[in-house]
Amino acid sequence: MPDHPLDITTRAVTAGRPAAVPDAPLNVPVTLASTYIAGGEAEYGRYANPSWTAFEDALGDLEGGRCLAFASGMAAIAAVLDLLPAGGRVVAPRHSYTGTIGQLHDSAERGRLSVDLVDITDIAAVTAATEGAACIWIESPTNPALEVADLPAIAEAGRAAGALVVVDNTFATPLAQRPLELGADVVVHAATKAIAGHSDVLMGAAVVADDGRYEALLGIRSLRGAIPAPLEAFLALRGLRTLPVRFERAQATAQALVERLRAHPAIGEVRYPGFGGIVSIVLADAAAADRFIGALTLWRHATSLGGVESTLERRRRWPAEAPTIPEGLVRLSVGLEHPDDLWADLAAALP
Ligand SMILES: *Cc1c(COP(=O)(O)O)cnc(C)c1O
Repeated sequence: MPDHPLDITTRAVTAGRPAAVPDAPLNVPVTLASTYIAGGEAEYGRYANPSWTAFEDALGDLEGGRCLAFASGMAAIAAVLDLLPAGGRVVAPRHSYTGTIGQLHDSAERGRLSVDLVDITDIAAVTAATEGAACIWIESPTNPALEVADLPAIAEAGRAAGALVVVDNTFATPLAQRPLELGADVVVHAATKAIAGHSDVLMGAAVVADDGRYEALLGIRSLRGAIPAPLEAFLALRGLRTLPVRFERAQATAQALVERLRAHPAIGEVRYPGFGGIVSIVLADAAAADRFIGALTLWRHATSLGGVESTLERRRRWPAEAPTIPEGLVRLSVGLEHPDDLWADLAAALP
């Protein structure tokens, strides 16, 4: 092994592999087992699975912590919120993923937690809300507004207030942002998106630095049972192996498209955080956005993001999307097609 630390793009390929001994498979295989011979560490299929562990070792390595895989991003989010004391107050971005907001509102309605939604870019408002909070929930960039939070400043305020600092790192991925290094306590992922990366898997993950918190989350996962299927874990790890090259390519294409989109007169606003493959554009209204989407032939109209294929959707078509998101906002997930083909399709469909 080289005596310098391996680059994150190398570790995406090497982490979570079996030891290099004769006849060992290069990749940890899919282990279909509901139970194991008694007396070991695993015991039962709801507690442990080697295909999960390989994925967890790899993502934990990239994020710099210990990882637990879940059935979906939402299952990981629910498990992390389960760590909070009853009645605790959660400060979260008003433009968080709709499912996250949905879980928070549901918990509030049932009296489990209380919720304080803030503009995550307004550091004074976030710091003020942090006082007495049980949790600061950060999503950065936010979905689909693509606002970027000052993670180190918010994490410091959260820690000073004794709050659990959680970052949904789905959009940035550990390639662009490693929240545990910036002071966060927990990272959550919809591995469904860029990590698995092929629009064929739902999976989630939580990564923590602290052993006690790892054990607490493992206990919640084992009891609640929101575990991933072994095949999904295998596929998500296979996707993670190519995350760096896919991310770089999607980012380079997104940057090229952003320049052209910004110069187009039909687009009111182009939101792009400067990194990653997600871009939001704002057209005149819902009708203009729907016509544009309907005229495309290469881009596919579908929710979700982070796949190899370019997709897009008008977010306000979902009734649960925040009313502060413009009706004409279309979120683009840039895939791996040639940038000129992607641009030609967009340019032909724009008004
Ligand atoms: C999709 C998404 C989730 C939820 O993940 P699922 O795997 O769909 O449950 C959570 N956070 C963000 C930012 C997302 O984009």
